Amino acid sequence: MSFTLAIVGRPNVGKSTLFNRLVGKRLALVDDQPGVTRDLREGAARLADLKFTVIDTAGLEEATDESLQGRMRKLTEKAVDMADICLFMIDARAGVTPTDQVFAEILRKRADHVILAANKGEGAAADAGVIEAYSLGLGEPIRLSAEHGEGLNDLYSQLQPLADAFEERADAASDTPETDVTVDEDEDDPDYVPMPTNAKPLQVAVVGRPNAGKSTLINQILGEERLLTGPEAGITRDAISLRMEWNGTPMRIFDTAGMRKKAKVQEKLEKLSVGDGLRAVKFAEVVVVLLDAAIPFEQQDLRIADLAEREGRAVIVAVNKWDIEDEKQSKLKDLKESFERLLPQLRGAPLITVSAKTGRGLDRLHDAIMRAYDVWNRRVTTAQLNRWLTGMVEAHPPPAPQGKRIKLRYMTQAKTRPPGFVVMCSHPDKVPESYSRYLVNGLRLDFDMPGTPIRLYMRGQN
Ligand code: GDP
Ligand code: GDP
Repeated sequence: MSFTLAIVGRPNVGKSTLFNRLVGKRLALVDDQPGVTRDLREGAARLADLKFTVIDTAGLEEATDESLQGRMRKLTEKAVDMADICLFMIDARAGVTPTDQVFAEILRKRADHVILAANKGEGAAADAGVIEAYSLGLGEPIRLSAEHGEGLNDLYSQLQPLADAFEERADAASDTPETDVTVDEDEDDPDYVPMPTNAKPLQVAVVGRPNAGKSTLINQILGEERLLTGPEAGITRDAISLRMEWNGTPMRIFDTAGMRKKAKVQEKLEKLSVGDGLRAVKFAEVVVVLLDAAIPFEQQDLRIADLAEREGRAVIVAVNKWDIEDEKQSKLKDLKESFERLLPQLRGAPLITVSAKTGRGLDRLHDAIMRAYDVWNRRVTTAQLNRWLTGMVEAHPPPAPQGKRIKLRYMTQAKTRPPGFVVMCSHPDKVPESYSRYLVNGLRLDFDMPGTPIRLYMRGQN
């Protein structure tokens, strides 16, 4: 299975040029005059060993009036919905324009995976535009020259892991026995009930060691709620994911327990039990690490929690089987201590006690998921960040390696999900780890972002 990449962006930034380069045949028309090509076009693309479908949204004139704005928006939305991954292109020589910002807004709202490319990136004339691109809040831009074929390695490095993930997802889907719940796309199913809202379901993975209570938890949630796909609760056993509504929130829950049980049959337990957790984590927005209160923080729990953090997911630790705990107060204290000691990378992540069996604590778990998701999506304005940065530097200036003081010049949030920040500075390679940690911990505290992975990138001239 391959994936579909849509190239979007305002006219004349170089979309067709890249399309042609990827497709290798001159399928799309390229012209200096904006608006020569029309509507969407598709081609079979190749980049090193990756094969995929590429969609080009060329054919838009610069939107100067209301109707053109509308058309541009519609066409882009159409492309975004058709694609697995969007490549959003800006012209690095022109810098970020208001139209680019309109596109960025659409993508932030609508696209699952966005790769940001600053094209026409050859030469120094593009430097400023590349830096400006960070402020779009779509992550680190790739510096590209579609015309000269530069930066394609970087494009490859961003596409390749996503391609792997799509491959794994396709494998998982095709492994699925026929009795499985088909995920929500199956509208021919007579039992199919469409989601009551248009909201994209929140993707949650419940992970943890065998017997932690994952199946019980999911069944308990399903038991309380109307299952929107599939006929009855028993189906969790072999499902890859379940779409449901929990306390009014549309969710898709990845049930790794079902995958593990299937793996056992296939006698590949060891290999797949790590793999299925990984797969679930990759596609989740929020990961619930479910622990057994009797044996919390086992190696396997720590590994999966760490993996979730490294993958940049919002993480919640839920301690299950709380119903059989006698010394709840002191146990909770112990758990919190172990948590801080064993998983410092998840500092401030919520720790919730639940009983999957009785259903106690499930409302709190739901609320913790919503809060974590909110923090994970949080956006801080550039103005706020720069004011904050000034204060942080005054309180504790960065060191002066070899007598050269590191100057932190400017800061902006480059992405969300999880929050990622870029600090433009002199000597980015010399900023010590401890200073980055100081900034990350400060961000967490001052902008109320507990428990979410925070990424900090130092950029600038060395
Ligand atoms: P589209 O409207 O976004 O599809 O843009 P086109 O692909 O038609 O490109 C618009 C203009 O930009 C053409 O004149 C291209 O030759 C030029 N162009 C495309 N990529 C590059 C690049 O990497 N560097 C430079 N300098 N020009 C480019
Ligand atoms: P999974 O392997 O993580 O899916 O775990 P299961 O859901 O199959 O549960 C393993 C065992 O723990 C079963 O015997 C469950 O009945 C039991 N269990 C699960 N949740 C709870 C709970 O909250 N309290 C108690 N006392 N037992 C539980």
